[in-house]
Amino acid sequence: MARYIFITGGVVSSLGKGLASAALGALLQARGFSVRLRKLDPYLNVDPGTMSPFEHGEVFVTDDGAETDLDLGHYERFTGVAARGTDSVSSGRIYSNVLEKERRGDYLGKTIQVVPHVTNEIKDFIAIGDDEVDFMLCEIGGTVGDIEGLPFFEAIRQFSHDKPRGQCIFMHLTLLPYMAASGELKTKPTQHSVKELQSIGIAPDILVCRSEQPIPDKEREKIALFCNVRKGAVVAAYDLNSIYEAPLAYHREGLDQAVLDAFAIHPAPRPDLRVWDDVADRIHNVDGTVNVAIVGKYTQLEDAYKSIKEALSHGGMANRVKVNVSWVDAEIFDQDDAAAHLEGFHAILVPGGFGERGTEGKIKAAQFARTRDIPYLGICLGMQMAVIEAARNVAGVSTAGSEEFDHEAGKKRFEPVVYHLKEWVRGNAKVKRKHTDDKGGTMRLGAYDAVLAEGSRVAGIYGTPAIDERHRHRYEVDVKYRETLEQAGLGFAGMSPDGRLPEIVEWRDHPWFVGVQFHPELKSKPFAPHPLFADFVRAAVENSRLV
Ligand code: GLN
Repeated sequence: MARYIFITGGVVSSLGKGLASAALGALLQARGFSVRLRKLDPYLNVDPGTMSPFEHGEVFVTDDGAETDLDLGHYERFTGVAARGTDSVSSGRIYSNVLEKERRGDYLGKTIQVVPHVTNEIKDFIAIGDDEVDFMLCEIGGTVGDIEGLPFFEAIRQFSHDKPRGQCIFMHLTLLPYMAASGELKTKPTQHSVKELQSIGIAPDILVCRSEQPIPDKEREKIALFCNVRKGAVVAAYDLNSIYEAPLAYHREGLDQAVLDAFAIHPAPRPDLRVWDDVADRIHNVDGTVNVAIVGKYTQLEDAYKSIKEALSHGGMANRVKVNVSWVDAEIFDQDDAAAHLEGFHAILVPGGFGERGTEGKIKAAQFARTRDIPYLGICLGMQMAVIEAARNVAGVSTAGSEEFDHEAGKKRFEPVVYHLKEWVRGNAKVKRKHTDDKGGTMRLGAYDAVLAEGSRVAGIYGTPAIDERHRHRYEVDVKYRETLEQAGLGFAGMSPDGRLPEIVEWRDHPWFVGVQFHPELKSKPFAPHPLFADFVRAAVENSRLV
């Protein structure tokens, strides 16, 4: 039976609950425990799959094909534990399960209520895989007091009550604002936030206090006294230069020790932090900087490409360089020449995306990279655009485009080099989709195998002929153009095992030009940078030495 740590937040949002949870997971692992992290989100969307990246940041896809919250990405990057669909749930999903059961008659005609039906559904979810790990860390999205969050708070209260004493603890994140005028850190908002928690029956065991200033002993004592926690359980969270310093920083502040004390685990196993020491060393001791342009659509909100940004920084760590990322809005190429905006970058990355807006700009970016010998990594839509560029400008398919942009019936603007995929194979089963299906969860989602061509660049980079990577797309490069494109010099270096779906393309006579139909960024970790990102950054470093 796992021990449970429930992580909640108060005072303000964006305190770094996800990061604190992920760092704590890593620290428990460093002490020899196994962990799993979960996110319970109060919003009513059934999953984040159809939420705009502008609003919600990136959608993190798991191996088993769930579209989840981007916090699961943090969890994976810090613990290396592959997230599952059952590690993320929203109010929308919970309610839709409850209503489905009600329609099926599972409740035998009873009146369906938030307590106990909704809370039971949440509790069942929390307990999935209970016997698999030593610690289950469950983060509740939002802040205490939010209307939508209440059923979750009630559920975790009940859950800890149902379990034997000492099996569950509560960790609460708050903010200590600094009043410059009086030179003081204020503890009152923290006190109020804890009161709010207590009023719904939850007494926190650990308080993590975000603060811009060192927390004096006197204030710690005050917080401990007024919030009814031990002094050693008031843990400071200071701003960091890099999120990857969080495990070491939280360890210095005594978070993992406080957690083990709260569970009365004595003697506490000693931590082995060598992995994180090495990561910190790679962040602090760098030799040079490379400038990478990300040419995308959702450039106003960097969280929309969270995993890509992180994977690039991991690639930097692998090469001991700092990667400077510049966000270039693909739409500016509608008016301008790509050269005006992409000159001087050591490498170009075109990420995934949906819809036509900005795609002509991405095609120009791919062309610029190809003709100027600049390292290019195209991810999902970024690969599709590179293929369209190749078809139009090298292989002579002048009207090449994607079916994604041809919605108007009877009016075909493009030759569909990229077409709508309606049927594919997963394991031994066939998956079928219709154009008219619901938008949620209808893509080719999750981990799929690919076979790499012998002698290709990517086979060398991966160092293995068989890979599996995570997917999230509806459209696919049409294999019937393979010969034409290969003759033009674009190698089909990775294919689905049945040979029907192109997974990777690469320009043969180019220093580094790779397009992948999947999302390698989702599997990269600071302590295990993804080989494609590590090699892409290496190519950028090489290019930076040439210019
Ligand atoms: N819109 C494209 C598709 O659905 C690409 C998706 C993506 O980049 N994730 O195939």
